[in-house]
Amino acid sequence: METDLNRIKKLSEEKEDENWKFRSFLKVCNIPSKKMDSIVHRLYHQVASKIDCESCVNCCKELNAVLDQEDLKKLSKCLEISIEQLKDQYLTKDTDLDSKKFTFKKRPCPLLKNNLCSIPINYRPKDCVSYPYLLKKDFTSRLMGVIGNCSVCLIVFNVYELLKDEIWHKHFSDVFSDFY
Ligand code: SF4
Ligand code: SF4
Repeated sequence: METDLNRIKKLSEEKEDENWKFRSFLKVCNIPSKKMDSIVHRLYHQVASKIDCESCVNCCKELNAVLDQEDLKKLSKCLEISIEQLKDQYLTKDTDLDSKKFTFKKRPCPLLKNNLCSIPINYRPKDCVSYPYLLKKDFTSRLMGVIGNCSVCLIVFNVYELLKDEIWHKHFSDVFSDFY
């Protein structure tokens, strides 16, 4: 398993073509969505149990979480400031987003203090808690995001590699090579 962030960035670049080919394969392989999700969930637990997110926090440095109104209420309560103060101090609207949604003004996230999230988990934005989204349903409908996250997240990189081994390299590589 690869646990070095610099290495996963380099490897993700090197494997970009392969990653897109595997995406194409996943789109046509006819593995039922529920079955695919259960494989991804199992691999997620296998990998995440060996990764120390607190010593990584790369998602808090490189990505912009999306916050809805409920997230704003929880954060303002946690920080003991008004929602308007929260917006002024930390947040910005993204024109690509729903007008009621916000992102943090800066990266790394301004709530990352001493390399740790300063917000207790019960108050964190839902987008932060659900990252890297591998426990969501319909994995195969989110593969572009998964490929993008391979260079950001140790868990996503390793799960995608294990998935290739489990359902592509071991069983289908000969068949698939006929198509490419
Ligand atoms: S709120 Fe916490 S978990 Fe979310 S991006 Fe900021 S530091 Fe990371
Ligand atoms: S979710 Fe991924 S990017 Fe975020 S801290 Fe854990 S391993 Fe790092």
